[in-house]
Amino acid sequence: MINVTKTFLPPQEEYQEILKRAWDTGWMTNRGVLVKELEVALQTYLGSFSFIAMTNGTLPLQIAIKALGLTGEIITTPFSYVATTSSIVWEGCTPVFVDIHHDYLTIDETKIEAAITDKTTAILATHVFGNPCAIEAIEAIAKTHGLKVIYDAAHCFGVSYKGSSLFNYGDVSSCSFHATKLFHTGEGGALFCKEKYYKSMFSHHNFGHDGPEAFQSLGINAKMSEPQAAMGLAVLPYMDEILEERKNIVDTYNAAFKESAFQLLKIREGTIWNYSYYPVIFKDETELLRVKTALNQESIFPRRYFYPSLNNLPYLNQQNMPISDSISKRILCLPLFVGMNKALLDKIINKLK
Ligand SMILES: *Cc1c(COP(=O)(O)O)cnc(C)c1O
Repeated sequence: MINVTKTFLPPQEEYQEILKRAWDTGWMTNRGVLVKELEVALQTYLGSFSFIAMTNGTLPLQIAIKALGLTGEIITTPFSYVATTSSIVWEGCTPVFVDIHHDYLTIDETKIEAAITDKTTAILATHVFGNPCAIEAIEAIAKTHGLKVIYDAAHCFGVSYKGSSLFNYGDVSSCSFHATKLFHTGEGGALFCKEKYYKSMFSHHNFGHDGPEAFQSLGINAKMSEPQAAMGLAVLPYMDEILEERKNIVDTYNAAFKESAFQLLKIREGTIWNYSYYPVIFKDETELLRVKTALNQESIFPRRYFYPSLNNLPYLNQQNMPISDSISKRILCLPLFVGMNKALLDKIINKLK
């Protein structure tokens, strides 16, 4: 069975050798040697400033909302994974959707101002498939209206925009290191923030502790553990190879679909991308279902990322988002992973054609 992705696993001995170092210390969590080592290694690899390794990519969003003291309405995108919206609701805020750009699939910055009310406190947008939002425009709007900016950057490992890691933009960004993501620690993630928020974010991710016997604020447990960090340290040395191989697959897909009727993802100018997903947008849902069924018959399982559009979640009031609704019904992410052989790639391409 072929899925949309396949977790990259380093040689098991390499994982065990790293894990042994945690064993030798007798510490399995609470920021042991491996978590600290992973943070240093990632800082060097990504060129990102303040960040904290965490246990998944959802808690950073919730912690950002909590620690920035956000209330009321948060402007957000309907085209993302459910965690973007559910984090807002979980923190007692109201998601106000703004529709997406037809080509970039990120929030349409030209429609944000019309959605701002006196209850709006922030913008939480997703760099969809690692494609940056209109960062400059969003920053200008946030400044004018006194709003905070959080980016769900779950897909953005290794992406840079205008010469800097994409994680360095906004007040806070999150990343996911889930096993289905480009770089992974099994479950895991990170919170990236402006230096001035670091201490508060750190405290929030560790029960609100300010030292062993004092508390600074309300907190939760979002700490990364040593076995997670060991996986990260074992995967990281392979990142250049992973990116290279994924680039070759994406180039092959692109060449095959150049003259086709499918709409492909348009990457924003100024971006060095990470080849994290290969979405194809069909002319209608019927065509998508026809292709999906044909691939399923060959035991190939692409995924409908992102479907449904999040404005249709059952716990929200209906908001009409025509572009996101339309794209969600027509978009399919094709298999893309290290170790995909040419025969499989050709089979998928031929089915689509
Ligand atoms: C994967 C993902 C998340 C959640 O990350 P976890 O590590 O699974 O908690 C959040 N947002 C987006 C856009 C994602 O793709």
